[in-house]
Amino acid sequence: MKNDLYNIWYEQYKKKLVEQNVQPWKVSITDRIEFKRCPRRWKYSSLTNMGLESNTPSAKYLLGTIIHKCLEFYYKEKATFECIDGLYHSLWKDALKVFMESPFGKGARTDAVNQIPLGESMLEEYIKFASHDRWRVIATEFEFEYPLIMLGGSPILFRSWAYDYGFNPTLVGKIDLIVYDEAVRQYMIVDHKTSSCKIDSASLEWDDQLSIYLWCMNRMRKINFLGCYNQLRKKIPIVPKILKNGNLSKDKSIDTTHNIYLNAIKENKLNEEDYEDILKILSTKENTFQQRHFMSLKLNQKPIIELQLKRELAIMFAVWKQGFFYSSPDTMNCGWSCDFKALCRSENMSASLNTNLVEEYYHRRDQ
Ligand code: SF4
Repeated sequence: MKNDLYNIWYEQYKKKLVEQNVQPWKVSITDRIEFKRCPRRWKYSSLTNMGLESNTPSAKYLLGTIIHKCLEFYYKEKATFECIDGLYHSLWKDALKVFMESPFGKGARTDAVNQIPLGESMLEEYIKFASHDRWRVIATEFEFEYPLIMLGGSPILFRSWAYDYGFNPTLVGKIDLIVYDEAVRQYMIVDHKTSSCKIDSASLEWDDQLSIYLWCMNRMRKINFLGCYNQLRKKIPIVPKILKNGNLSKDKSIDTTHNIYLNAIKENKLNEEDYEDILKILSTKENTFQQRHFMSLKLNQKPIIELQLKRELAIMFAVWKQGFFYSSPDTMNCGWSCDFKALCRSENMSASLNTNLVEEYYHRRDQ
């Protein structure tokens, strides 16, 4: 995808921007979601603003990041599980060093260490599951930029007042995986998700990330991509208990897969025929450990997405330009998933940033 028509056009476009003294105002698609949760958190985390990242990230965040890197390796290099497992452990080794260097890291390190067997099992099971796919890999970690205003012509989306200040709003994103699925003859944008709970397919209708990826890619590449949420559940399938008589438990509510149960039969040198009933139940049971949810953009969704983007970016630009990043406190957002509580608290107390506290964060280099 590196030398396709869009990229050739975009290189020329960037030259024109420089000539006309217009700078791209880059808004990452994930940062857009961050802004909607809390503008102040967006200030701390986005590369457009301070670009900070906690130096003691949560164990869950680390697990998700490491699994993403291993999946990238799997799809890019067609790697075997043994190779992926080697990478998985070396990534954890590096991640844990960070905790050793931090005065706050001890408790977080213990939490992180506890995640290691879980992630290993998630990857092992996923690779068995994905081995049946007929996916031709087009790109992994595909980065793109999509300017929302055309130079010297009609706007792609809208003429924003950002342009009058010499900025061109440009959406940027990084797509986990783009494939051509030979089975359904369709190009597909795949977004890997690690999550402890099952995603309800119907709720994807409100999804704000994959739908924007689809919107951008459909417009840039003139191809109707299908979207795929590739979910890996954060749960190790249960190995069936061995009863006192040496047989395996046939508890129908067991949270496991057909493969795990079959392996347990083989490992304990039992007769597969004696377990036909439970194996049949497991083979028809929904797989909640690796799930895929598909979505495509309907024609009537496109103008709604465009209107929404137009309004959101106007608000984001106003907040950014005026430098007033109001906070949006919420028990869930602040208490569970915000790494910037200390910074935010200090701003609430003194209406200014405590620079000593800022030093306790890393500066992000990613997109
Ligand atoms: S602590 Fe809450 S209000 Fe403050 S930045 Fe985080 S999410 Fe926003």
